[in-house]
Amino acid sequence: MKIQTKIALSFTILTSGIILALSIFIYIFGSESVSNSFYHRLEVRADIVGHAALQTSKRTTSIYYDIKERHLGDLPFEQHRIIKSGEVEKAKRLREQMPMPPSFYDNIVRKEPARFFKNDTSYIGLNINQAGQSIIILSSAVDLYGLEEIDNLKKLLTVGFFISMFFVFTFGRLFSTQVFNPIRRIIRNVKGISAHNLHQRLDVGSSKDEIEDLSHTFNDMLNRLEITFDIQNNFVSNASHEFKTPLTVISGEAQLGLSLDNIPPAARASFETIYRETGRLEHLANSMLSLAQTGFDGKKEQWSRIRIDELVLSVKEAVDKIMPANQVTINFDHLPDDEAKLTINGNETLLTAALSNIVLNSCKYSDNKPVSIIISADKTHSVIEINDVGIGIPDREIAQIYVPFFRASNTERYKGYGIGLPLANNIIKKHEGAIVVNSQVGAGTSFKVLLPFVK
Ligand code: ADP
Repeated sequence: MKIQTKIALSFTILTSGIILALSIFIYIFGSESVSNSFYHRLEVRADIVGHAALQTSKRTTSIYYDIKERHLGDLPFEQHRIIKSGEVEKAKRLREQMPMPPSFYDNIVRKEPARFFKNDTSYIGLNINQAGQSIIILSSAVDLYGLEEIDNLKKLLTVGFFISMFFVFTFGRLFSTQVFNPIRRIIRNVKGISAHNLHQRLDVGSSKDEIEDLSHTFNDMLNRLEITFDIQNNFVSNASHEFKTPLTVISGEAQLGLSLDNIPPAARASFETIYRETGRLEHLANSMLSLAQTGFDGKKEQWSRIRIDELVLSVKEAVDKIMPANQVTINFDHLPDDEAKLTINGNETLLTAALSNIVLNSCKYSDNKPVSIIISADKTHSVIEINDVGIGIPDREIAQIYVPFFRASNTERYKGYGIGLPLANNIIKKHEGAIVVNSQVGAGTSFKVLLPFVK
């Protein structure tokens, strides 16, 4: 879950907790106060009825009832039961009929408030003494209006709770989006920085907050990275450059040796080995140099129009020099009718290096079994397909073959450095092309190189 959503959710949960507690408090407090006021109204009526019952003269009794009728009126389902002192049987019967707990009756005896609520009905009990006489009055009524009010309050609080939750979550999300905008901007900028544009820096702004600190920290790190990259790039470029001249000299001397007549077979074999291994080393030095230049935005190369069939022929020549025993064949059967589809814009040296790395791999990882190169074109690209019947690449490792110095787990038997494909990939990408790999362990590998032709 994104931090932004987490913040919005935590915010909503926290606020919902508070609003829920507040709603429960309002509900309890509201219903208490409504029922207290109803008990009070019932007690006033019970008191009048009780006093009326204690009167000896009928006239006074009816005055009490008259006052009650005129000034108070009846409550819904109002009932009064009077127990005079000595009416033990009646008291027992009523006690059995009515649902009140023992504490209710204890309170009446102690002259404390005796109140009870069951099945929407409110019950009260009073102990009234007057002029030496005492009676107990049990009254009940239903607070129809109060119950409706409480029910309305409950509905209002529930609807209010859900509406406020909706707003809290919506505003919480908006708020967290706002807070995370600067971080998203940094992520976008950082994603745009790679080895090719290491000189780019993040916009620091002037907010004087943690985001500004973070941008500064990133920029400092990029400064250090750029310096390290430059040092590495210069070292690799210089070292491979320095290798080239002595290697050319050694290769020339070996060729000279091979051209001599009457040299013993052992010496000839030695010269051949020196010539082949020097070719290998030259290829490695060239690859390192090209990788340094293409990977780290080195000097600009010379671009020109290139015919890919000619390019493939020069690749074959380079491969023949390094692996004379190869069985590479070029298939021209699928050449497009329109020759324009064979012409691309690019740097010949770099493209030869890229393609010869792929073809050399095909020869190497198939122990010099036949390798076919098919030249064709689709609607927008010239296509060079290199197929071998070699060891293949394990499925889960295919994604890593362009990572510098990566070598698949099934290559222990073969010499290699893991720089050929990263270099080829860099070069093809520079030409706005693409490499598509299909491979099956034990069956073989197919590399399809697509390069946009000149329109
Ligand atoms: P290496 O010097 O190891 O050949 P590369 O960069 O040229 O380095 O290739 C990277 C890895 O890709 C190789 O180590 C190998 O595992 C795999 N690979 C490349 N081409 C082939 C192929 N034709 N057949 C099988 N594996 C290949």
